[in-house]
Amino acid sequence: MVTKEFTPFENKVWLSSPTMHGEELEYMKEAYDTNWMSTVGANINEVERLTAEKTGRKYAVALSCGTAALHLAMKVAGVKPGMRVFCSDMTFDATINPVVYEGGVPVFIDTEYDTWNMDLAALEKAFELYPDVKVVVVAHLYGTPGKIDEIRNICEKHGAVIVEDAAESLGSTYKGKMTGSFGTVGVCSFNGNKIITGSAGGCLLTDDEAVYEKVKKWSTQSREDAPWYQHEEIGYNYRMSNVIAGVVRGQYPHLEEHVAQKTAIYERYKESFKDLPVKMNPYDEVNSVPNFWLSCLLIDEDAMCRQVRGEQDALYIGEHGKSCPTEILEALAKCNAEGRPIWKPMHMQPIFRNNGFITREGDGRGRTNAYIAGGKLGKDGRPIDVGADIFHRGLCLPSDNKMTVEDQEKIIEIVKSCFE
Ligand SMILES: *Cc1c(COP(=O)(O)O)cnc(C)c1O
Repeated sequence: MVTKEFTPFENKVWLSSPTMHGEELEYMKEAYDTNWMSTVGANINEVERLTAEKTGRKYAVALSCGTAALHLAMKVAGVKPGMRVFCSDMTFDATINPVVYEGGVPVFIDTEYDTWNMDLAALEKAFELYPDVKVVVVAHLYGTPGKIDEIRNICEKHGAVIVEDAAESLGSTYKGKMTGSFGTVGVCSFNGNKIITGSAGGCLLTDDEAVYEKVKKWSTQSREDAPWYQHEEIGYNYRMSNVIAGVVRGQYPHLEEHVAQKTAIYERYKESFKDLPVKMNPYDEVNSVPNFWLSCLLIDEDAMCRQVRGEQDALYIGEHGKSCPTEILEALAKCNAEGRPIWKPMHMQPIFRNNGFITREGDGRGRTNAYIAGGKLGKDGRPIDVGADIFHRGLCLPSDNKMTVEDQEKIIEIVKSCFE
């Protein structure tokens, strides 16, 4: 329970905001000075080259945003109206919306405690229930790689392709390979809050030249090679602007630096919280190197005070020695620091209330409320609905690269004070 008062930060401490360095402006100016102000130019070519090189892919197509890349990825993967598509459940809804744009029907696969990403046992269960599924959309939450090699093996066994959403995990590796390089197609994002940014932008990643050409064509209104506007298939206006590409190009040399800063932030939190009844967002320490885009906390079950969330609001009852995400987020906000609840799982979202949800013990529909009401446990004694549990007990901490050590120490004190 919060017991202390802190003086608010004079400048807001952000969850994750753009960090500029100077080169961005030079490349933007170059676009301006040479009048390559549209969707063709040297910056775009460089972003495609750098992104392919960085992710270890043969090709990257520069697009207006990660969501556009995911949309075209669904078309590459062959999502058709009425098709079931297995999807990560604890992710940002931009992972899922493109499935629905193409008429697909998302079936959500529950989360594992190990990495907060797609649970392998739940995915196996899903294929038992729906053996005909041919597309699986997998995200790497908060920059932490999921067990993507194992997921790929399961998908190969069932003849399914993977759309790999690496929007949050550019620069993270699993078994020595970059995330974004495992899926049949991969996606990254340069949205303003990501590890590097163009203010907007994204890329579709592939090793197939035909896919590269096709996606580039779709993204520029599907114009055929003719003297006039000739169209044989539906197109989109999804190409990246050469001005935006200038920002991304100027950010690329700083990717490793950003990752190092985020790693230091995570390590500092981890060290400082070792005596609190909390854990940091976990990762596979043997096989993965995350980019640590966001640092998160999970409060131990027995250190949770009572917290209830409705669809749009939350209540809690403070208790000595205990806390909850709502209390911590309110304490941070009061001091002009931005935290955020864990991304609310898709199976708990009203818009997807009729979609399937598969846990490691099978069909998980109808169990979410049971968890909240009393904690429905699986055979292993842990909650069946892992996503709901992490959402209930977890939160994202301020993780901005520009946060000073002193700022972070104060954040740490604020969090500690919540458990007094
Ligand atoms: C940010 C994000 C996206 C979307 O990227 P935009 O560039 O904002 O369209 C997709 N998936 C995940 C997991 C994201 O965090």
